[in-house]
This record gives sequence, structure tokens and C-alpha cells, in this order.
Amino acid sequence: MRFVFLGPPGVGKGTQAENVSIQKNIPHVSSGNLLRVAIKSGSEIGIKAKVFIDKGLLVPDSLIVSMVVDEIGLSRYRSGFILDGFPRNLLQAEILDSTLDEQDKKIDKVFYFTASEEVIIERIAGRRICTSCDMHFHQLYKPPLKENICDKCGSNIFQRKDDNPETVLVRLKVYHEQTEDLIEYYKRNKKLIEINCNGSVSEINEKILSVFDSFVNGKMR
Ligand SMILES: [Zn+2]
Repeated sequence: MRFVFLGPPGVGKGTQAENVSIQKNIPHVSSGNLLRVAIKSGSEIGIKAKVFIDKGLLVPDSLIVSMVVDEIGLSRYRSGFILDGFPRNLLQAEILDSTLDEQDKKIDKVFYFTASEEVIIERIAGRRICTSCDMHFHQLYKPPLKENICDKCGSNIFQRKDDNPETVLVRLKVYHEQTEDLIEYYKRNKKLIEINCNGSVSEINEKILSVFDSFVNGKMR
């Protein structure tokens, strides 16, 4: 089973992807994490991507696509994955679909997570990340066991520079502009399932699991 989790920054899809990945034993592929790991490890893609990031530019579609396609080509994704943060625009989605099509595979469902701007701003303000192992935390929803310390590796956790409320509204606007066609594309292909994320983490998780179960039981095919 192959799923895409789509939604604006701060909607909580990363947390949901991590939880559902564990609950349903489907590997989670976060394009943001892949990119950070690629840059840190100094891989070919990482080196190329860093040039754009250092200039304050977006990493080009071609680099992001080859990074994700390489990853999901690994044998551990043979029976499926949850893609989080990718595709980010229509072009990436079309390349993803044609790549999967060549392997006789397809995206089964796309979960589109939505929430009000107020909710998103509150969620982003609480986000923390471990820069050593890329584990994500949230001060309200997923606090570390020890304050400011990563549960997994013991390093300090930080707020990302672009997670401050002032830039969030700008990022939301950019996100909606970039994804309008993408949402339309998945809607047209009858893959889009909208999940309203104004509730708690566990309420949202229940909604996702019920859609999963009905899909697995064949009700949605
Ligand atoms: Zn860590």
C-alpha cells in the first residue's frame, strides 16, 4: 500500500505519519528528513541541494524527485510506504506517478490534512527537532521525556529557524499557491481524502486509521 500525506506546514502530518507508520507497519519516508540526511552525509544529492539552500533558494524539483525515487526504490519499500512532504507540486506528482507506473505500482490514497491558520500557528510554535538524529518533538503534543533533550540520542533539541510565527503565514500562502494544482490532480484521480486536523493528535489518528481500515477491507476500491 502506497500513501501520500499532504498538507501545509504545521498541520501535524509528520507526527501522524510517524504514528501510522508504527501502527500499520508501513515505512515512513519524509522528504525533509531525507534532504537533511543527504546534506549532513555529504552525498552527491546533498552537496547539490546545499548550494541552493545556502543561497536561500528552493531545492529544484529534479533533485528532490531523484532523492525520493532512489529511496523508495530500496527493497524495504517493496510492499509500500507513506510519503510525507512529497510530492510538493504537480510536476513532482507526475514524475512520481510515471516512475511508479513503470514498475506496475501506484499511489493508492492521498491524505490531505487541513486545519485553521490559528491551529497551525500554535502547532508550529511548539515544534522542536533533534539536529543529530532528526527526531521530531512538540512541546504540547510530543514532548521529550527530559526537557530539551532528544529521547532517542540524548542531544539537545532545537526550534527550526523558519518555525517562528512571523514566517508561518508567508509559508502557508506559498504552500497553497504551490499545491493548488496538485490537490486538484489527486482529486481528479479520485485519490484525495481530506482529513480535518483541528482536533487532538489521537482524534486525527483515529480518523486516519478508520480510512485505512476501510481501504484495506476493500470498501474504497
Ligand atoms: Zn536525537
